[in-house]
Amino acid sequence: MLLLGPIIVILPRDQYSTWIPAKQKLILAVYEKGGIGKSTTSCNISIALARRGKKVLQIGCDPKHDSTFTLTGFLIPTIIDTLQVKDYHYEDVWPEDVIYKGYGGVDCVEVGGPPAGAGCGGYVVGETVKLLKELNAFYEYDIILFDVLGDVVCGGFAAPLNYADYCIIITDNGFDALFAANRISASVREKSNTHPLRLASLVGNQTSERDLIDKYVESCPMPVLEVLPLVEDIRISRVKGKTLFEMAEYQENLNYVLIPREIPDRELFSLPFYL
Ligand code: ADP
Ligand code: MG
Repeated sequence: MLLLGPIIVILPRDQYSTWIPAKQKLILAVYEKGGIGKSTTSCNISIALARRGKKVLQIGCDPKHDSTFTLTGFLIPTIIDTLQVKDYHYEDVWPEDVIYKGYGGVDCVEVGGPPAGAGCGGYVVGETVKLLKELNAFYEYDIILFDVLGDVVCGGFAAPLNYADYCIIITDNGFDALFAANRISASVREKSNTHPLRLASLVGNQTSERDLIDKYVESCPMPVLEVLPLVEDIRISRVKGKTLFEMAEYQENLNYVLIPREIPDRELFSLPFYL
């Protein structure tokens, strides 16, 4: 584990190099039910990757349209809002209408909600990708991260999995999040039959306990990259509309997490790796 950002970044350097496929671009999809910490985690992953020199686009796929709030500091207009204003004339939409620059150089898009009572989450994701392709923006990025509300995984909610290389599932140590995680895993397995999609891992969040998570992965083996506790500064960062990365710029007591840790060589060499 490597402490690179104000939260514990879940892409440690060594894993990162093996994790990123040889191809240039990487598309990630972060899934779970609401309130679990998808957007918090997504924003911090996006900044961490941008700081490694990657050109990053985060696409919020939640009708609450607040995925990128802590990156931009405001609720940016959604794709659906913009398309409605332009009467669905794609040719009248410009990149600056829908792509907003966020903290750390991360580009931000919010898909928005489908038409009330009539729409489908998958439709708006499809329209978003179509529009970004027409704007020649979709292929410009090294990393695209879909932040997806995926409690009930119908075909529509699973739409971002059509584009993703890896799915990351955020969970807490509760039954219901693991129940959702299990259904999301089923979707990943289903899509992986026809798409180059794989499950990256579970990430535990907002919990200092992990007994249920451990029981789940014992019976359904999958990696757990990290388990993050409830962090008061994260709660505050949400209210301030900033990520911890940004808060750490002027709040010295957050810097402790910006500095990587290492163990002494002798300690490393005496770790019981092969026992
Ligand atoms: P989601 O995108 O899954 O709906 P959010 O990322 O918006 O969830 O997080 C929901 C709320 O929980 C936010 O107010 C956020 O600041 C808070 N939160 C997320 N992770 C943590 C954490 N590890 N510690 C404390 N608060 C957290
Ligand atoms: Mg969210």
